[in-house]
This record gives sequence, C-alpha cells and structure tokens, in this order.
Amino acid sequence: YPSLSKFLVVFTVSGGGLVAYAEANSTNGAPAIASSESENVKKKVVVLGTGWAGTSFLKNLNNPTYDVQVISPRNYFAFTPLLPSVTCGTVEPRSIVEPIRNIVRKKHSDVQYCEAECFKIDAENKKIYCRSTQNGKDEFVVDFDYLIISVGARVNTFNTPGVEEHCHFLKEVEDAQRIRRTVIDCFERASLPNVSEEERKRILHFAIVGGGPTGVEFAAVLHDFVKEDLVTLYPRVKDQVKITLLEAGDHILNMFDKRITTFAEDKFGRDGIDVKTGSMVVKVSEKEISTKEMKNGQISVMPYGMAVWSTGIGTRPIIVDFMKQIGQANRRVLATDEWLRVEGCDSIYALGDCATINQRKVMEDISAIFSKADADNSGTLTVKEFREVIDDICERYPQVELYLKKKQMSDIFDLLKESKGDDTKESIELNIEEFKSALSQVDSQMKNLPATAQVASQQGVYLAKCFNRMEECEKNPEGPLRFRGTGRHRFRPFRYKHLGQFAPLGGEQTAAQLPGDWVSIGQSSQWLWYSVYTSKQVSWRNRVLVVTDWTRRFIFGRDSSRI
Ligand code: FAD
Repeated sequence: YPSLSKFLVVFTVSGGGLVAYAEANSTNGAPAIASSESENVKKKVVVLGTGWAGTSFLKNLNNPTYDVQVISPRNYFAFTPLLPSVTCGTVEPRSIVEPIRNIVRKKHSDVQYCEAECFKIDAENKKIYCRSTQNGKDEFVVDFDYLIISVGARVNTFNTPGVEEHCHFLKEVEDAQRIRRTVIDCFERASLPNVSEEERKRILHFAIVGGGPTGVEFAAVLHDFVKEDLVTLYPRVKDQVKITLLEAGDHILNMFDKRITTFAEDKFGRDGIDVKTGSMVVKVSEKEISTKEMKNGQISVMPYGMAVWSTGIGTRPIIVDFMKQIGQANRRVLATDEWLRVEGCDSIYALGDCATINQRKVMEDISAIFSKADADNSGTLTVKEFREVIDDICERYPQVELYLKKKQMSDIFDLLKESKGDDTKESIELNIEEFKSALSQVDSQMKNLPATAQVASQQGVYLAKCFNRMEECEKNPEGPLRFRGTGRHRFRPFRYKHLGQFAPLGGEQTAAQLPGDWVSIGQSSQWLWYSVYTSKQVSWRNRVLVVTDWTRRFIFGRDSSRI
C-alpha cells in the first residue's frame, strides 16, 4: 500500500509527530518543513464507499484544503440504473463503470484511494478500522477529522430460507454478469438431448421475486432477450420458456402512479409474463420455490430453473454495529439531521442508502416551533401567524415543504376548516392542538426519502458544496436560525428535488413519472430514458460506450455466448 504508507506518515504528523517528520525531512531544507506545516493544517476527510453518494461528493469537492482518503472495496463507480441491461447483454459491464482513480485524478485537491472495506467506526476517537480486500487479512487504522459514510445497503432476504444459497441478486456488476451467464446456461442445458420434457420446462422457468422497479425491469429485459434473440438461436426449446414475477403486495410497481401500475400489469399479461401478486415467497430450495398466498395462507410449490431475488434493501453489518454504538440500535438505517450529520456525532456525515433524515425528530421540532410561536399560551394562532410558522418550518426542513406546501397543506386547512365549520380561512383562529392532530395524520405520509441514486447523488453534491464553503459559512452562516441555541446554522439544510422516475417495461416501451405527477408511457418515454441515462453517465467514455452498445444491439442483436 504505497498510498496508504504516505497517508499514515501524514497521520503521524498530525498525531503529534511533527518534529520527527520535520527532522526526517531536514535535509530538504526549510521549504520541506513549510510544506509539511501546510499539510498539517489540512483537515482529514475520509469517504467510505465509491457508489452514487460517495462519488458525487468526490466529484463536487473543490476545496484543496482537505486531505481526502477514499476507502471502498470497489475501485470503480457503477451506474446501477443500467445493471438490468447488463444481465442480458444489452449493455456491456465495462461500459457502465468508471475507475475511481480516473475520477479522483481529475481533482485538484489531495485525494487518495485505498481498496479496502471499513469494518468498524470508532466515533469517539475519530478512527476507522479497515481490512484490505486483496487478501481479507491486512488490517489498518485511519484517523479522520470528518467522516463521510456512504456505504450503501445490502440485499434484504428477510431471512427467507434458501435465498442466499439458491437465488441470484441484482445489486452489483458481478451479479449482473452471473445472471447473464446463468440465463445462457439454462438455455444450453435445456437443449441437451437427454433432458426430459418436464425437466426442460423447469430449467426454462425464470422466477423473479419482487415487483419493484428492479424486478419489473429485469423481467422486461429478460423477456426482450428471449423474444428478440434466444428464440431464433434455440428454436427447439422456445415454447417451454416461462417468466414468472412474484410480488407479495396487491400490485407491481406500487410506488408509481396507478396508471403505470395498470399499464405494466396489462403489458406483462399480453407479453406472457406471469405476474403473481399477493404471493409471498417463504422458502427456496435448489429446484423449487414455495409461496404463500396472502389471501388464504395457502402454500404452493413451483419448480424453477433460475431465480432472481429483488425485494428491497437491508442494513450493512458495519452500519448495524455503528448504530448500536451510538444508541440507534432499533433503527433500519442511520438517522441524520437535515445537514446529513449523524445524530449525536458532529463530524460524521451519512448519505445515500445507508442513512435517512430522522422524521420523528422533525415532527417533534415542528411541534415545538408551534408551541414557541404561541407566546401568549392561548393555544391558538391566527392564520397569518400560522403561515409564518409554516414558512419557518419550511426553511428549516425543506423536505417537509414538499408535503406541507403541495397537497397536505391544503389537507390540513381542510381538516381545520371542517373542525371549525368555517371556510373564511383568513379570519379564523387556528387551534394549535387541532393542527398538531392534523399534522400527526400527515406524519405517516412524511415517509423517508426513497433509497435511490437520485437522492444519494443530490446528497453528495449538497455535502460537497458545504465542505467547499465550510470556512466562509463559519464566518457568515446562511442557514436558518438555530432552534436550540443562538445564531444561525452554517448551511441551508439539504433539499431534495425529485426529478421523476422511469420504469422500462420492455419492447421499447417505458413508463415515466415526472414531477407534478405527469405520466408518460410508450416509445417517446423510451427515447427520453435513453437520453437521460446517456447524459447522467459520469464520463464521456461511459457515454460513448453505452450509446455504442445500444447501437450494436439494434444492428446485431445481443450476444448469447457464455463467457
Ligand atoms: P451504493 O451506490 O451502493 O455504493 C456503496 C459503496 O460503498 C460501494 O462502492 C461499496 O463498494 C462501498 N462499501 C460497501 N461496504 C463498505 C465498507 N464496509 N467500507 C467501505 N466501503 C463500502 N436508483 C435510481 O435513482 N434510479 C434507478 O433507475 C435505479 N436503478 C437501480 C437498479 C438496480 C439494479 C439497483 C441495484 C439499484 C438501482 N437504483 C436506482 C438505486 C441506486 O443504485 C441506489 O439507491 C444507490 O446506489 C445508492 O447509492 P449509495 O452511494 O448510497 O450506495
């Protein structure tokens, strides 16, 4: 680890070894000491993870006064929205990854990368413990002034027996490559002459567990691969192919607009993809999947050849361990404040899939803001005062604004209006208790931010901007008034801007749900999908490679070699 040894020397310097370091460099004369002194004042920022959050933080950090150490077991950034396309060879794996060293090389600040995983965070002593991914044995310790935790999440199996052993996941590039090989394997195995008809049917039964965006997109790309390429290459077995999508809820894509859900279910029905909703997988064995009907509890067993598990995300062990340390043991992800600081740890930030802004605390604070505004303790506020309080809340908690200002705000007014029996909003006095009870109904709708690349990358950009202006904002704080304490917060809180989401449904049809609940389904959205995903690539190299892959697929079809 040449880069690490250099880094550790710097740590020794800041750990009180300045004299030793200066002496060791004394042959170089005064300038060497001067440069070691300037390094000495640099704050050490350690970034864990090279996914969406970590990479967008690194790309946007422009302040040369930090000494940045990146630690991740993956020495590249992967563009996850195109992982389903990798499973069937529409896009090649190397087209959607970018070496992290390429990204940090372009930075003017001091950034080092270490291929290792962090296995323990010591918040009190500001140290992290890491293990090399090369041999899984070499361990080392790194100090930090600021720690950015962006380690993402792992697959959630809900402890369903047999899933780890027999199912494929679709989380990493390696998973997508494995799926691609297994699909071809299934077709080759089913084509062997000694395979019985029943066994052939089993081998060519592809089961996808989870009707969320990833499961649905995989079902769609697999169907396209079979229909457009494999049926011509394997004509003898084409009639035995079956794709089943299992979903425990009532509908697939239930986080999307109803119109998209209905369109997707109808389209899959027409394409011959068997969508089984209300069906929960309870056990997976080598050749069979057991499901339980949600309506009547009936257990059924279905033979399968390949299963892909895509039911959501769980917490990484390092985060579980850290949450126990800092008194957040009962949570699923790390709780942060609106500035993305881990609650109770001032110099530790968490972003992306491993963290969320603590909504319960937000609700408590909102409640307290109301009580403070009610200076005369009358239990009422005029509509004017009420609006001022809402503005204050929205400045402090921009993510609440989405709910309060969009539709729930009018719901609250409606509720209050109903309870007062008065529709002249401007003249009535609003009872705080009534408002709080109305707000508690909104509470359940103030869901956590979704675990998406969009949230993770916006958080990375936000935090990098804060770090770029740390000193400036220390002197001239720009955030809202401190609720507990005096003065203003240094920065404005994080504000998430939802830019819409896509659900590719196969056959050059994509559903798009854009801001303002604008829904578009069809080929035009597919072209929008192509252009958005091209523009979102992290480098020009990726853009060119992805577009070349799509063009190659249009002209020559997908490659079905099992390599
Ligand atoms: P990740 O991107 O998962 O990055 C985590 C990083 O931490 C990785 O580099 C990992 O190697 C590293 N790491 C892990 N453990 C450690 C450790 N112990 N120490 C140090 N480093 C560690 N979102 C969208 O918005 N739109 C989409 O279309 C979309 N499609 C998706 C399709 C698929 C197939 C998948 C799997 C996800 C998709 N997502 C999409 C979700 C999106 O990928 C995630 O929300 C996003 O990756 C979260 O970013 P992150 O930085 O928190 O985590």
